[in-house]
Amino acid sequence: MSRRPVIAGNWKMHNLQQDAVDLTNGVMQSLREIDKAALPEVIIAPTFTSLYAANKALKDCGCGKVRLAAQNCYYEEKGAFTGECSVQMLKDTGCEYIIIGHSERRQYFGETDEMVNKKAKAILANGLVPIICCGESLEQREAGVTDYHIASQITKALRDLTAQEVAKSIIAYEPIWAIGTGKTCDSTEANRVIAMIRNVVKSLYDANTADSIRILYGGSVKPETIKEQMAQSDIDGALVGGASLKVDSFSQIVKGAM
Ligand code: PEP
Repeated sequence: MSRRPVIAGNWKMHNLQQDAVDLTNGVMQSLREIDKAALPEVIIAPTFTSLYAANKALKDCGCGKVRLAAQNCYYEEKGAFTGECSVQMLKDTGCEYIIIGHSERRQYFGETDEMVNKKAKAILANGLVPIICCGESLEQREAGVTDYHIASQITKALRDLTAQEVAKSIIAYEPIWAIGTGKTCDSTEANRVIAMIRNVVKSLYDANTADSIRILYGGSVKPETIKEQMAQSDIDGALVGGASLKVDSFSQIVKGAM
């Protein structure tokens, strides 16, 4: 089965509104010569405060080549949850995807596998696509428990989801030791772990679901690494942090994934 590649930029806690508009416009401008059908699914994930402005820039351009994601959500619909944003609120702001379970959210904000699962359910129930992050720490890798840990994260994140819901979800394998460090995971090793994740999905669901789900690699992806990563059998794209903050590097990564 051929899966459409995905390149998603996680802007993290960067960019004021005008910076977000400039970066959004810059990315769209850099892709203007390329036919939409030839592009991967290109996604940008600004901070909450820039979502409205970025969405307006995307709509004003109207080229439909770049889509909007949020970096987090809360799983309840509404209520007394000070400081949180529901999936409906993010959908209302133009988001089609929501990143959940990023290692920074797990590490600094106590996001658990159970919360990731609740968020995935709320996102899918609202017709959006979850980008479910998983990944091992350096200690876990050195202790030889990478596969066990990732399989456990994925099994818990997908609990009680239907095969159809899983098939349209996106998983991002992001070894924590590779995030923001400049140390990219060797492509064949990233591919091995991603194939292992696909096998977990197959054992939980079926071969069709495992063949349909897009699984990305994330962790210091750069213009120089993307071609080799995309040449692997099971890597369907990239979740990009630092290199998504500059038009040049992000657009080179998008083009490298074509
Ligand atoms: C990320 O935050 O998801 C990420 C992969 O960051 P970086 O590309 O900077 O390592």
